[in-house]
Amino acid sequence: MRLGDVGSERPVVAVGPEDELKEYVDVSDLTNDFNEDFFGSGGTDLVRAKVAERVSKSQALPFAGERIGAPFARPHQILCIGLNYRDHAAETGAQVPPEPIVFTKSPNTLIGPNDDVLIPRKSVKTDWEVELGVVVGKRARYLESPLAAREHIAGYVMVNDISEREFQLERQGQWSKGKSCETFNPAGPWLRTSDEVKEPNNLKIQLSLNGELKQNSSTNQMVFDPEFLVYYLSQFMVLEPGDLINTGTPPGVGLGHKPELYLKPGDLMRLSIEGLGVSEQRVVGS
Ligand code: ZN
Repeated sequence: MRLGDVGSERPVVAVGPEDELKEYVDVSDLTNDFNEDFFGSGGTDLVRAKVAERVSKSQALPFAGERIGAPFARPHQILCIGLNYRDHAAETGAQVPPEPIVFTKSPNTLIGPNDDVLIPRKSVKTDWEVELGVVVGKRARYLESPLAAREHIAGYVMVNDISEREFQLERQGQWSKGKSCETFNPAGPWLRTSDEVKEPNNLKIQLSLNGELKQNSSTNQMVFDPEFLVYYLSQFMVLEPGDLINTGTPPGVGLGHKPELYLKPGDLMRLSIEGLGVSEQRVVGS
C-alpha cells in the first residue's frame, strides 16, 4: 500500500487479518516507492522478508485513518481490455471478441482508492467499471506462452475503469477520449502479491452505487484470463515493471441499464473484490 497526501505517499505493507486494514509496517527505508525500479529489481521479495522480521519484533503500526494512495507509483503505461466478460459484451450489444480488444489509458488518471472522482466538463455519460487490475512485475517481451507470463505478474489490485461513454463512443475514433479523463482510474486499497492470490480467475467482484448493487460477478466470467493477457500483450509491445493492465468489467455498468444511468455529483461508488479490499469514491463536479 501507499499512505500519505497526494504526491507524498510512502510505501507500507498491510499486515494482520485478511481484507481488513488494522496495522501496517513502514518500508520507506527499504524503497523510495513501489515503482518500476522496485518491481523490476525483485523488491517484493526483499520487502516480504523484512516485513516478517519487523512483525516478529512488534514493529507494526496501527492504521489511523490516513489517506490511502494508489498502491503503486504512476506507471509507464495503463492498458485496458474491452469486453472481456461474456455477460458484459452481451449487455452492450457487442459480440465476444475473438482476440482481446486493447486500448490505453493515460497513466496520470491513477488516483487513490477513496479519492473523489471528477465528472469531466461537458460530460453527460460518466460511468463506472469495477475491474481486476494486473501489475507487471518483470519486463515482458514476446513471451512464449500464457504459463510463461506467470512470473511476470507482481500482483493484483482492484481498479475502477471510469469511462465517459459519449466521449468514448460518439465522438469519433477509438476509446481513449472517454477513458483518460482526470481521476478516471481509482486503484487499491492494496496490491496483493501474486503468491497470495491463489485463484485470480475465481474472485467475487462487486460494485454498488448509492448502496444499490449494480455489478455482481466473478472473475471466472472472463473471456481472457490475466496470464493470457500478459502473454498476448507482450506480442505487440514491451510491458515494463509496474505497468497496470485493467482486465475488463462484468455486467451492470450504466451503459447497460435500461434506461441508461450515469453518475452525478454526490453519488457514492463502493467496490469490492475478494481479497483485494473495499474502496469508495464520491463523485464530484469539475
Ligand atoms: Zn474497462
